[in-house]
Amino acid sequence: MPSQRQLFLNHLAQTSDAPLMLEMTSAEGIYMTDVDGKQYIDLISGIGVSNVGHRHPRVVEAIKDQVDKHLHVMVYGEFVQSPQVKLAEALTRTLPKKLDSVYLVNSGSEAIEGAMKLAKRYTGRREIVACHNAYHGSSHGALSLTGSESFKRNYRPLIPGISHINFGNVSELEMISESTAAFVVETVQGEAGVRHANQEYWSEVRKRCDETGTLLILDEIQCGFGRTGKFWAFEHYGIEPDVLVSAKGMGGGMPIGCFISNKNTMAVFTENPVLGHISTFGGHPVSSAASLATLETILQENLLEGIETKANLFLEYLKHPAIMDIRNKGLMMAVEFESYDVLKPIIDKAIALGVVTDWFLFNDKSMRIAPPLIITEDEIKKACEIILQAIKEVVS
Ligand code: PMP
Repeated sequence: MPSQRQLFLNHLAQTSDAPLMLEMTSAEGIYMTDVDGKQYIDLISGIGVSNVGHRHPRVVEAIKDQVDKHLHVMVYGEFVQSPQVKLAEALTRTLPKKLDSVYLVNSGSEAIEGAMKLAKRYTGRREIVACHNAYHGSSHGALSLTGSESFKRNYRPLIPGISHINFGNVSELEMISESTAAFVVETVQGEAGVRHANQEYWSEVRKRCDETGTLLILDEIQCGFGRTGKFWAFEHYGIEPDVLVSAKGMGGGMPIGCFISNKNTMAVFTENPVLGHISTFGGHPVSSAASLATLETILQENLLEGIETKANLFLEYLKHPAIMDIRNKGLMMAVEFESYDVLKPIIDKAIALGVVTDWFLFNDKSMRIAPPLIITEDEIKKACEIILQAIKEVVS
């Protein structure tokens, strides 16, 4: 009988020739436990998902309650499904007034696809501007926006009319013109290795989009839902998007995504053709119930309040000559080393010592740190000690 690991390699399509191959049997809070009973600290939240921790009791309860009522009953948009309604209403309460209409989908990529279609349809324009080193997803539309040639090269033809500018560069905003349907940008760039821009940049972005009638689409799939210390990352910069995109942490461990805009803008999907954007499972009732519980947990348990202090603890503890730089916005952090060749064995060692971390798609010399927001000060200390131990063992 082949082992489960062998069956994984035989029958699950692989995305790399070196998967981590950890085999978890349970997860709770910031911890995951493998088949041998070994416990790991999840320092990356399953890549930006478990913001409220694994199996948060409120999320689990909401899921169980909904499972006892109904699963799928109808495609998105036709029936009045209570979990979807409650979630959409709660989301709009966290947002500026003009963002009052929520389209629920299943994933980040799917939400980006919807937002791209919305901008094209609403403006009647065909061109889109995005950023170098941006990651927006793996489907054809989202991949077209991605700012990395090596990821796109072998998948052409992709969507035409998309150009890329450097994130944070004010003068390049001139590339946004009267022909641009949307500027799609991560509020904090994730896969670039946590890059953020200043308030002046964001005011200029808003100004340029207003001047040209371009929709500003903010991708908060990774940086939203509390990750940076505000519920939405754009709140740091005093601007408002025209379309906001969320997923990942939004579901508290369940698959869900959304794009949010103004009711008037969203109305374009209802005619010419009717059903201009459709999703069978969009806003699945169980995922919607989990998402509402996640949102309420973040707000009612005041998880945002402690984030700056927690981030500062990481900055304080993670001191070593091999660490060249640490960039962060709240608990979205990148710890930079000299090269991938230095970082990779440190990551492997940290995992062996019980801390799960990794690197970024477009920055493979930086270690990703994005723990569940519920992590305690003692747990941060413990995780940092393990990382420092890993560095020490590898570097010396
Ligand atoms: N945008 C950003 C900023 C992301 O980090 C991701 C996922 N890493 C996506 C979009 C795509 O989301 P998904 O994998 O759910 O399609």
